[in-house]
Amino acid sequence: MDLDPWSLLKASLEGDDSGTSILSIDKSAKKFEIIIKNQAFLSLESGFELEGFLCKKIENSDFSTELIYKTNGTILETSFGKFQFPEGEKNKDYTKFCIKDITTKQRQEEEIAWRLRFELGVASSIQILIQQHSIREGLPQALYQLLYFTEMDSVFFLKYESIDNKDRLQIWVNERKTTKYPLLPQEWQNEDWYDLGLGRWIHKLKRGKTIYLTQSKAMPREKWFFEQTKAETLLLIPVLFENKFLGILGFLKYKKNSPIQQENLLIYQTVSRWMGLFVQRDIDLAELNRYKSTLESLILERTVDLAKTKEELERAYRAKTEFLAHMSHELRTPLNSIIGFSKLIQLPESDKTGKEYLNYIYTGGTRLLNMINEILNLMKIESGQIKIQLTTFRPEDLCRQTLDLVQPQANAKGMEIRFRPPLQSKSLTSDSGKIQQILLNLISNAIKYANHPYVELDCEWIDDSLEISVRDFGPGISEEDQIRIFHTFTRLNDDGNIEGTGLGLSISQGLAIRLGGTIELTSQLGQGSNFKLKLPEIIK
Ligand code: ADP
Repeated sequence: MDLDPWSLLKASLEGDDSGTSILSIDKSAKKFEIIIKNQAFLSLESGFELEGFLCKKIENSDFSTELIYKTNGTILETSFGKFQFPEGEKNKDYTKFCIKDITTKQRQEEEIAWRLRFELGVASSIQILIQQHSIREGLPQALYQLLYFTEMDSVFFLKYESIDNKDRLQIWVNERKTTKYPLLPQEWQNEDWYDLGLGRWIHKLKRGKTIYLTQSKAMPREKWFFEQTKAETLLLIPVLFENKFLGILGFLKYKKNSPIQQENLLIYQTVSRWMGLFVQRDIDLAELNRYKSTLESLILERTVDLAKTKEELERAYRAKTEFLAHMSHELRTPLNSIIGFSKLIQLPESDKTGKEYLNYIYTGGTRLLNMINEILNLMKIESGQIKIQLTTFRPEDLCRQTLDLVQPQANAKGMEIRFRPPLQSKSLTSDSGKIQQILLNLISNAIKYANHPYVELDCEWIDDSLEISVRDFGPGISEEDQIRIFHTFTRLNDDGNIEGTGLGLSISQGLAIRLGGTIELTSQLGQGSNFKLKLPEIIK
């Protein structure tokens, strides 16, 4: 059989998807001729200017592989290959020239690269969220990162809160890829989305549904949203944590006819699930911090309370010790004189001075008795053993009886006691004996310590509480001594000329407290003092 080599060569080039041809190239003239081409080559070369393309390549002696993007979207790969043809004309080169349709392969590669980029974006934005302490700081950065790697043009996060049964959406993130796209207007966060005609969105989102809308598919009352934002596509994804609606993750896209692929939608939803986790963590942390600070202030308060109690206990302990020390001293002094003068009275010359000694013994004994009575009184008050005997009486009557008792003391000093009864005559239920004891002490102090023609005793009702003031115009008491004088055995300027034990005011204060009242002192040095006994109406 006689085989035609030309047909053989042609046949060898067939049966392949890629287009194959053989060129002869005139090196000096920089011209070429396609000697032979297969069927596939014929269909692939249509639709682009092959002549011009090859001319340029040969002229530049550039035999590298090159991609050609045809207007119909096809991507072609062109390559030159070796073809040995020693019998050919001497000034010519022979080479294979192939065209391959790589559209699918190229698209797949691009898709993989895009997806990798997308996933990288998601991973890095989630990483930002993990690393940041506060979601409010991390979120804008994380979502911007996401935006950068995806097809979306702007992103926002609206934090949801229900205040007084009203939906409130606060803009936490408002980012865009470039400044050519508008941001969400800030005033939207104060608007009621139902009033804006977007209530359907909120309703759906709260039930966990995603909203994916394009301008053409929006309802008439929603259209304004697209007109104002100039966006083509809107994607709203609810941010949830265990079915609790926490906010909305929104994306806008401005490119026309560019739908969001289903797989990408799933990725955006995954991001929103992650966000739910972080937003909830932020809420929990804030709550925890609130608890922590209340706990801290509570501990601080308790510590202060404890320190105060400790201080009070220490003070009470010191006072008791002081009291005991004083008491033994105060008791020993009159006892010494009693014993001393009793001894003297036994001496022969006692006749002359006996009477005088007897007087000393009498005074010493009385002082001792007074002191022991007062100490016992104080002990009773302090140990809570004191009994209250309630009667109902008019305070002005009690004041008058008390005045009768101190009148001799005032007379002895040539002093007058000016009494002002209450304007309103009302009865009081309390322990009249205890009140009298307090008044006796305050009035006799006023007489004892003041050298002024008169002291004042005022009795008045202020609403339902009774106030009895004992006022003198004597030496007064300095501010620093005003608290001290209520402590046991405290006597100011004690030069022994004025009789006293230093127990009267402690007893009076103790009694007033036991009656549910207080004694308040206002005094100024050189001006006089005002001791005010305040009592509620009824003491049970
Ligand atoms: P006493 O009068 O027995 O010394 P008190 O407890 O009644 O004891 O009084 C304590 C001290 O307070 C007195 O020693 C005196 O120095 C001072 N004091 C009390 N009342 C007055 C007053 N009206 N004016 C100035 N000092 C007073």
